Amino acid sequence: MQYCSTRNKDYRVSDAEAIVKGLSPDGGLFVPMEIPTLTKTELEALCSMDYAARAAAIMERFLPSFTHDELLSLTKRAYALEKFPVPGTAPLVELNEQENILELFHGPTCAFKDFALQMLPLLLTASLKKTGVKEDVMILVATSGDTGKAALTGFADVEGTHICVFYPDGGVSNMQKLQMVTQSGNNVMVAAVKGNFDDTQNGVKSIFSDKAYAAELLKRGVRLSSANSINWGRLVPQIAYYVSAYCELRNRELTALGESVNVCVPTGNFGNILAAWFAKRMGLPIDRFICASNSNNVLTDFLQSGTYESRRPFYMTASPSMDIIISSNLERLLYLLCESDLELRSYMDALQKDGCYSVSPALLKKLKAEFSCGFCSEEETEKSIKATYEKYGYVADTHTAVALKVYEEYREKSGDRKKTIIAATASPFKFPKAVLKSLGALEGGDDFAMLDALSALAKSPAPKQLSELKEKKLRFSLVCEKEGMKKVISQYIGEKK
Ligand SMILES: *Cc1c(COP(=O)(O)O)cnc(C)c1O
Repeated sequence: MQYCSTRNKDYRVSDAEAIVKGLSPDGGLFVPMEIPTLTKTELEALCSMDYAARAAAIMERFLPSFTHDELLSLTKRAYALEKFPVPGTAPLVELNEQENILELFHGPTCAFKDFALQMLPLLLTASLKKTGVKEDVMILVATSGDTGKAALTGFADVEGTHICVFYPDGGVSNMQKLQMVTQSGNNVMVAAVKGNFDDTQNGVKSIFSDKAYAAELLKRGVRLSSANSINWGRLVPQIAYYVSAYCELRNRELTALGESVNVCVPTGNFGNILAAWFAKRMGLPIDRFICASNSNNVLTDFLQSGTYESRRPFYMTASPSMDIIISSNLERLLYLLCESDLELRSYMDALQKDGCYSVSPALLKKLKAEFSCGFCSEEETEKSIKATYEKYGYVADTHTAVALKVYEEYREKSGDRKKTIIAATASPFKFPKAVLKSLGALEGGDDFAMLDALSALAKSPAPKQLSELKEKKLRFSLVCEKEGMKKVISQYIGEKK
């Protein structure tokens, strides 16, 4: 199976090359040229497997350069009980008749990104061998909070790799920042950027497209690569948990095999919801995707009107990992639905040039056939956390709360009563201040006092990964200008090489 660039269908690479390259040289993203299928019988067989086996079975269909045994040994490492200390790895919590919360936050950094970023270093180092790359790889990450820590944890001390993480100064939660600046490892670098997430992401993107810089680094024995969700190696592990969630519903006899469900995802860069879309294309019975946004509701507007308008105010919200205006992975969906690289390129060129584009009526119709959408204000996010706690005793984080609110609005409006998998993307303990405030229980004190307060309300202990940060040493305090990111990388390499 081959992959091609969304902006040039004749630019083709293998699965391993797609993972090594991250982004296509023309600026496009890699997509599989055909989507493998999962029959009902195969789905049935997955139901009796554990998470690592399910994940290997899904991933091997997209990664023909890897054998089944190879992938199974990698998924067993990535999803080991020491890393995801909870039965089922991605447990499903039944809230009511419709709503089933898929808890994706039991990994080492308490956000769903661990599912991808525990796998990516393993996939990448194996892919480097398969493609004969000899240089060290330097992973560049722009993070709105959760990717940074998850990538640092995944890559720390992985031989032949270095990782440099940039986050928007003041644009991540205190806990997220602490997680990053205390990261251990001899191959890691963390810096804050004066600007918002889009500035940070644009900075990283422009470094990736700087051919002269890439050549200079290559001379020093370093090849740049990406761990952002534009890398196919990030997306493919995420497909597995939707399949796994369906198996869980089936195992608990909440659905019949073949009965369709909805999926609701709190969305930022569109990676997580796109993984669900791939699961559907493989044959998983999913009816509708409900795309939930916070006040940065560019996707809500787009899915309603067909016009993607990036020239809009940027809001810093209590769900910072969704504070995004350019939703990179949407490009993959648009390409696969419009099926012409020319058409897709015209949209992306317009976005670059004018800051906006409008898709064809035919494409909008296809999007609307599968996607519903909605957004949730800051005030509604707080209410959603409070209402969920009061009704069910369940403490949702700020991102998950956005999804819960948007889903409930969808259910009221549409009357659709299908079972729905709601992706819970972060642990509430990662955002203790915002969650306590929503619950009317904010009493001051530092983040760790807040963890204790939240723990009492949630009637469960705070994750060790977070409470232990208290004892960790601060390692990184560098703040750089948007224009200074390249220098940070060069300096780091100078010290290492
Ligand atoms: C990254 C992130 C999101 C957004 O996911 P996308 O794949 O970028 O749409 C939502 N919630 C949390 C907690 C995240 O870390």
